[in-house]
Amino acid sequence: MINTRQTGEAVVDGKPTILRDIELIVIHCSATRVNRDFTARDVDTAHRYLGYSRWGYHYYIRQSGRIERMRPEQDIGAHCYGHNRESIGVCYEGGVDENGKAADTRTVQQTIAMHELVRQLWTRYPQARVVGHRDLSPDLNGNGVIEKHERIKECPCFDAIPEFERLRK
Ligand SMILES: [Zn+2]
Repeated sequence: MINTRQTGEAVVDGKPTILRDIELIVIHCSATRVNRDFTARDVDTAHRYLGYSRWGYHYYIRQSGRIERMRPEQDIGAHCYGHNRESIGVCYEGGVDENGKAADTRTVQQTIAMHELVRQLWTRYPQARVVGHRDLSPDLNGNGVIEKHERIKECPCFDAIPEFERLRK
């Protein structure tokens, strides 16, 4: 990875790539129960059902800790209304406990993978702040439109800002 932020270019997967200006890394949960599998393909199906062209996140972290790539980083995502242009979307599988209540259901492997992924993203986007979906106003422009695909009140079901401020130190 060559970080040449001044020109907005970097080598990603061996290819010269124009990077977007990323201000935010937005953490999501899939809002699915911890005791069921929700695969990357399931995410894709759900997002297409909502009218998106394909899966809307950039990365998806399974309960095993496996990281699935979704949209390329240079493509604008569809995960956080009003913030997609300047953000990377990271989602973990889960966020709802066995009883249907919002909860931080991350496995140790998921948490480790998430921290490792964010560290990698910071090498390309050193200015990016990490926030949870719920930390962002759902309706900045006041037009009454908020995302329908997630329970934004809770997503990602843990306090992302202090966790990643600690990681950054
Ligand atoms: Zn979300």
